[in-house]
Amino acid sequence: MSERTPPAPGAVDRTALIERRTRYLSPSLRTFPLYPDDPLVLVRAEGPYVFDETGRRYLDGTAQNVCISLGFAHPVTLAMAGEQMARMQHCTTLFFHDQPARYAEELVARMPAGHDWVVHLVNSGAEAIDLAYAMARAHTGHFEMVSLRNAYHGLHFGASGSAAFAPCRTPTAAMQGFVHAMHPDQYKGAFGPHAGIEPYLDELERTIFSSTSGRIAGMIVEPIQGFGGVVPMPPGYLRRAFEIVRAAGGACISDEVQTGFGRMGSHYWGFEAHDALPDIVVIGKGMGNGFPIAGVIARRDIAESFAQVRFFNTFGGNPVSVAAARSVLKVIDDERLQANARARGEQLLAGLATLQARHPLIGDVRGCGLILGVELVEDRQTRRPAVAAGDRIQRRMRAAGFINVKGSATRNTFRINPPMSVTAGDCDEWLDAFDRSLAAESEARRAA
Ligand code: PMP
Repeated sequence: MSERTPPAPGAVDRTALIERRTRYLSPSLRTFPLYPDDPLVLVRAEGPYVFDETGRRYLDGTAQNVCISLGFAHPVTLAMAGEQMARMQHCTTLFFHDQPARYAEELVARMPAGHDWVVHLVNSGAEAIDLAYAMARAHTGHFEMVSLRNAYHGLHFGASGSAAFAPCRTPTAAMQGFVHAMHPDQYKGAFGPHAGIEPYLDELERTIFSSTSGRIAGMIVEPIQGFGGVVPMPPGYLRRAFEIVRAAGGACISDEVQTGFGRMGSHYWGFEAHDALPDIVVIGKGMGNGFPIAGVIARRDIAESFAQVRFFNTFGGNPVSVAAARSVLKVIDDERLQANARARGEQLLAGLATLQARHPLIGDVRGCGLILGVELVEDRQTRRPAVAAGDRIQRRMRAAGFINVKGSATRNTFRINPPMSVTAGDCDEWLDAFDRSLAAESEARRAA
């Protein structure tokens, strides 16, 4: 690995940094704390690894919140974004620029053929979600929308109205007009384990009937609920749910902020795994390999209905971010990263199945590609969340050089989302560290 001018260990004063951040950055940044008692200070990154101020290396199993798709410091991202940076670092949407136009063409080429797709670029996932809702409302002339329980679509004004679990709902203002249908969780869903999709589709119809005027603006679904603890929609759910939504006059929105761009391994887009065709697709996170860029891909007629509404932002389609996003499309193809995501996902799932047989704490293993979740439970029958044990295992993993966040409202599901270029060796090391961390937990319990 090349050494890219690392700061000398100790060059960053950890204590001063923490004091400065606490003094000058707003407490509102504490929404999702990771290691709140012992923050991790990062100073550089390369490939799938990040380094702290002492020079210690960690495998980043979060890919910085699923944003680093290719790996850090990928030479193609550096070259394409760097070249654009030197030529013109910003061109606002008032002017025409080649980068966003080319990117939109490249993106549309990756969408299902035979439809007239158009692209609207913005800066963050939640901003794109808000835009998608506004488009669906403008097009249908309806207001009410359906999102699924346990959903996370961001915490802006509009997006937060569709978030559907207590940690993301607050007494402060959120966009009104959302009803929440049951999410078809096959592990601990409302209709019991392995209930299939029928009861959930029935409940969706009943929700539309009982909690809306019957004519809705649309429905939004994450093909795999990410922040909610890696809950995959069972096969076929999206296709059938979309039929119900269309019958109620709504537009179908697939939130591909986590599932898009091949991370699922099996498909480029999450909706493809369901043989479903959305009307609007929301993209973000990994699309820029860490650069701030997100967007909406919509049917032209839907975008056309919205064109009468004033919507503007200054930075959307920033050419440097777009150049980075174009590097993502290119490298996923050139380096066959979707196939790697699939192979590494299979490797991790096989390894986790072995660990599950040995460690009773592992209640469920799910997901595909590099969107994987491991749910820790105190009891496999009751499925009571193993929260404190999960915290201890998370700390042991960090001490061993592996970073993961825990998702779900109860924070007991490890999320495994490393960059898509992660190697088989990295995954073996992760499995080994997870095995040892679980074994240490059992040992500590026996000794107690
Ligand atoms: N949708 C999904 C599925 C997400 O996971 C997120 C972010 N975690 C968002 C939307 C919102 O994206 P952002 O944080 O960029 O606003």
